Amino acid sequence: MSDCLFCDIARAQVPATVVHETERTLAFRDIHPQAPTHVLVIPRDHHADVASLAGADPTLLAEVFSAAVAVADQEALSGGYRLLSNTGADAGQSVSHAHVHVLGGRPLGPLG
Ligand code: AMP
Repeated sequence: MSDCLFCDIARAQVPATVVHETERTLAFRDIHPQAPTHVLVIPRDHHADVASLAGADPTLLAEVFSAAVAVADQEALSGGYRLLSNTGADAGQSVSHAHVHVLGGRPLGPLG
């Protein structure tokens, strides 16, 4: 076990409902879903947030977003969906491992 929950999920040391995998990304269902579909997409490598990831490995950031789109297709979110990445304290980021939320399955309404 490490001190990073999502690193532990990426290493299968903490259970998660995995819905999509690539060599460098993992997608699993959020434990407290805010919509009928609520999936988190992470890089397997540790980066504290998407800003750090963008600076260190922009190709991997693109892979994370491509995986998020693949999840939306797989979940048949034909009515649309939201990709969201909380970054830092003001955004309420609660897990310091870069992740993108994939939300859909109902009208999501405006942000805020
Ligand atoms: P954020 O608040 O944007 O950092 O998002 C972190 C997300 O991780 C929240 O939506 C949590 O519900 C979710 N989460 C926390 N622990 C787990 C877990 N063990 N498995 C799946 N999702 C989790």
